[in-house]
Amino acid sequence: MISKAFRRFSSFRVVLMPGDGIGPEVANSVVDIFDAAQVPISWVHADLINKSAKPGEDPFNRDTLCQIREHKIGLKGPTGTPIGGGHVSLNVHLRRELDLYANVRPCKTVPGVRTVYENVDLVTIRENTEGEYSGKEHEVIPGVIENLKIVSERACLRIARYAFDYCEKYGRSKVHAFHKASVMKMGDGLFLKKVREIAKLHPKVPYFEKNMDTGCGILVSNPSNFDVMVMPNLYGDIVSDVCAGLIGGLGLTPSANIGEEHAIFEAVHGSAPDIAGKNLANPTALLFSSIMMLKHLNLLEHAEKIEKAIHSVLVEGTVRTGDLGGRSKTTEYTKAIIDKI
Ligand code: NAD
Repeated sequence: MISKAFRRFSSFRVVLMPGDGIGPEVANSVVDIFDAAQVPISWVHADLINKSAKPGEDPFNRDTLCQIREHKIGLKGPTGTPIGGGHVSLNVHLRRELDLYANVRPCKTVPGVRTVYENVDLVTIRENTEGEYSGKEHEVIPGVIENLKIVSERACLRIARYAFDYCEKYGRSKVHAFHKASVMKMGDGLFLKKVREIAKLHPKVPYFEKNMDTGCGILVSNPSNFDVMVMPNLYGDIVSDVCAGLIGGLGLTPSANIGEEHAIFEAVHGSAPDIAGKNLANPTALLFSSIMMLKHLNLLEHAEKIEKAIHSVLVEGTVRTGDLGGRSKTTEYTKAIIDKI
C-alpha cells in the first residue's frame, strides 16, 4: 500500500540503482518492459557505490541516499560484496540507513516452470536491520573474533507486527516463527517472546513456531505446511533461498525492503559474477520485484499487464533463459515479454 509520505508526490519518480554484475542487464530489461507497458513512472538513475572512494573511505554514495530520501521508492539491482574483508555490504548499509526493517520475500510457483512441488506459495518476512547482520564484529585477541548478534525488543515487535498485519491484509492462512531459541536462549528467546505477544493480539491468525533447522527440513519435504514465515535476519536470508529453490531458483524470486517512509525493491539473487556481461541472466526476479513495486504504488493495471505477459512467455516455454533450461539471451526473453504486452 502506498504510504502517506509518498502520496504527497504528484508523479511517480523511482530511484533506479542497476548495481553491478548482472544488475545492469536485468535493470535494462525492466526499463524496456516498463516503457512498452507505458508505466507512468520516471526513473532517477543512481549508483549505490561511490566509485571515486579510496580504500578506507566510505564506499557508499551519499547522493543516492538523498535521492531515495526525496523520492521514497527505489528499484535496485544486486551489488557484489567483497568476502572476508573490503568494504561493508552496501545492501546491509542501505537497509540500516533507511531503516527498511521488513524484508518481504514471496515465493510462488510460476506458471510454466515445472518444479518438484506444485502450488508452492510462501512468504518469508525477515527482520532486516539487526541480528547477525548488525556489522558489529571485532578481534578480541589474535585468533578470536567476536561477531555480535543484536536483538532488540523494538525490532522484534515491529517485524512481528508486520508479519501478522501482512497475513491478515493479504488473506494468508497462518504465521510460523522460525527461531533457534533452544540454543540462543536470550537473543532468539526475546524474538520469540515478542512474536508471541503480537500473536496474542491476532487470535484469528493460526500461529506456530519451528526451530530453524527442523523448519528447513519440513520446508523442503512439505512446503505446503507453511504460509507466512517470520524470522530474524540471517535465518530469513537462508530460508528465502531455500524457498527460491522450490519454485525454480534465484532467477524468479523477488523481494521488497519496507520501512515506515521508504521502500526498495530488489531481486533476492546476487550479482552472479559467473554469468555477468554475457546476456544470460534471467531478469524475471527483478521484474517480479518491480511488479511488487507497482502494486505498492497502486499501479495495479500495469502490474497485472506485465505479470500476465511474463507468465504467458513462460507457459509457452520456447523463449527462456539458461537457468530455466532454455537457450535464450536476456534480451531475447525481454523482447518476447514486450511482444505480449
Ligand atoms: P548469486 O545470487 O549472485 O548467484 C548464485 C547462482 O545463481 C550463480 O550460479 C548465478 O549465476 C545464479 N543466478 C543468480 N541470479 C541469476 C539470474 N537472475 N539469472 C540466472 N542465474 C542467476 O550469489 P553469489 O554468487 O553467492 O553472490 C555473488 C555476489 O552477489 C556476492 O558478492 C554477494 O555478496 C552478492 N549478493 C548481493 C545481493 C544483493 O545485492 N541484494 C544478494 C545476494 C548476494
